[in-house]
Amino acid sequence: MDVRRRAYKVPRPTAAVIHQEQQQQSQASGSAAPKASDALPLPLYLTNAIFFTLFFSVAYYLLLRWRDKIRNSMPLHVVTLPELAAIVSLIASFIYLLGFFGIDFVQSFIARASNDAWDLEDDDVDVDPPEHRLLTCPPSAPDHLIPAVTSAEDEEIVEWVIKGTIPSHALEEKVGDCKRAACIRREALQRITGRSLQGLPVDGFNYDSILKQCCEMPVGYVQIPVGIAGPLLLDGFEYSVPMATTEGCLVASTNRGCKAIYVSGGATSTILRDGMTRAPVVRFPSAVRACHLKFFLENPSNFQALADEFNQSSNFARLQSIQCSVAGKNLYMRFSCCTGDAMGMNMVSKGVENVLRYLKSDYPDMDIIGISGNFCSDKKPAAINWIEGRGKSVVCEAIIKEEIVKKVLKTNVATLVELNMLKNLAGSAVAGALGGFNAHASNIVSAIFIATGQDPAQNVESSHCITMMEAVNDGKDLHVSVTMPSIEVGTVGGGTQLASQSACLNLLGVKGASKGLPGANSRLLATIVAGSVLAGELSLMAAIADGQLVKSHMKYNRSSKDVSKVPHMNDLASNGLE
Ligand code: ADP
Repeated sequence: MDVRRRAYKVPRPTAAVIHQEQQQQSQASGSAAPKASDALPLPLYLTNAIFFTLFFSVAYYLLLRWRDKIRNSMPLHVVTLPELAAIVSLIASFIYLLGFFGIDFVQSFIARASNDAWDLEDDDVDVDPPEHRLLTCPPSAPDHLIPAVTSAEDEEIVEWVIKGTIPSHALEEKVGDCKRAACIRREALQRITGRSLQGLPVDGFNYDSILKQCCEMPVGYVQIPVGIAGPLLLDGFEYSVPMATTEGCLVASTNRGCKAIYVSGGATSTILRDGMTRAPVVRFPSAVRACHLKFFLENPSNFQALADEFNQSSNFARLQSIQCSVAGKNLYMRFSCCTGDAMGMNMVSKGVENVLRYLKSDYPDMDIIGISGNFCSDKKPAAINWIEGRGKSVVCEAIIKEEIVKKVLKTNVATLVELNMLKNLAGSAVAGALGGFNAHASNIVSAIFIATGQDPAQNVESSHCITMMEAVNDGKDLHVSVTMPSIEVGTVGGGTQLASQSACLNLLGVKGASKGLPGANSRLLATIVAGSVLAGELSLMAAIADGQLVKSHMKYNRSSKDVSKVPHMNDLASNGLE
């Protein structure tokens, strides 16, 4: 469809509009800015009439007097007392009239000149501004706005942002100081919305570290508490697992699962596969042509040439496979590659662009519709990730001894096995689940993702998990496993380099690029995620089997808090977290 667009032109506020806005603001705040007309306790129209009459009458009088003086050859600079009074009145009434009618007119020129200096015309786009209203309802009581800027210079920039003469997104570039830009934007936002941002901290964050890579137009940062679960004994090593969450009892419950695993001898993990995917969609004039390219791409003898093209743009991205799917004239090509310690979305996308450029010369009728055709599939529930995997595919298992199931998890093996079958397997099948054959994998995945700077939106596919439970050793002990085919994590790039997130990665011993084999750190992080999910599954399933779910939620997740009576960790741990 051909969509015709007109460039958007942000209307520059006229003097009259500004004057009107100022009046409205004054009325709203109840504190009018002082004006010359305030000096006389008369209605505005009367004051104006007086000064108009005064101005023109004394001007007329003075002109008459000067004409007489010129005719009589008298010196002009010798003035009588009435003439002096007339001159004073003329100046006074001129100042009044200029203040009332003229200042805004003059200011519009000053503002225009200043804006030119800021090169503010950059992204003025000429389309009709959409009709919009402010947010929801106004605050019931006016918010107490704590100013985020103090200097007069910043005050002036705030006003420009409010008027729209400086785009908010350009502040970093214009003021050349990321923290200052955040404060100015924050102040403008407070004034535009009339709502206070008190409680959202702005100090104590390095805004330079997020510029052009993590977050645009910052006004502060959200604090999320980080708790520690563990030690998680996994593959013979102990890990203290950082979890960023505001869900009460989640950390305590995972901690209980870690304890059950630890005293049973630990968990073991295996990486089944490691490859990030990107799937562009291309269109041909016919389905036959789409199939030609499919056969070409899937022919093993063409793989090396394609891999050479793909691998050009990175030292770490190495093409593994190309899986194709045809829909009529359209072809979806799912490229998979290892990405070292990076989560890898940028890397794989660059490689795909190289290959598309290469293919275009042999397939000139190929119309590239999009670099991502959703066959990838990123940040959406999709069977392709559940079946084929994306990122790291991990299986993690442990055998929990009978007495540990009783003492730590407060239930028994048979009850857990039955609950797992009826809830995580049959129950999820009844619900038509896609990758959701577990109790609450996403709880643990999200908390670790946020703590370690992963992309939280990839929690969607990273939480795909099937939890299996089986009685072993003559039915006495419990074999528990989680299989997670698409854990998408990295230890370099994105949010991993920010100070807090980097500290959490450091705690796990997986900060940054691995010294030895590229990708070792990110793979280890994926196994830690799976191991923690195993712990979380054990604890929640036990809580449900023991009938603690609702009781614990009511007791610890909805309480109006009295911090002097914080519950003991063991009480919290038996909570269910669904
Ligand atoms: P992503 O592809 O996950 O979006 P980036 O685009 O930030 O991540 O890519 C990661 C960057 O880190 C690349 O420039 C890459 O060259 C660099 N890098 C350094 N060491 C490694 C490593 N061990 N594994 C992967 N990338 C690495």
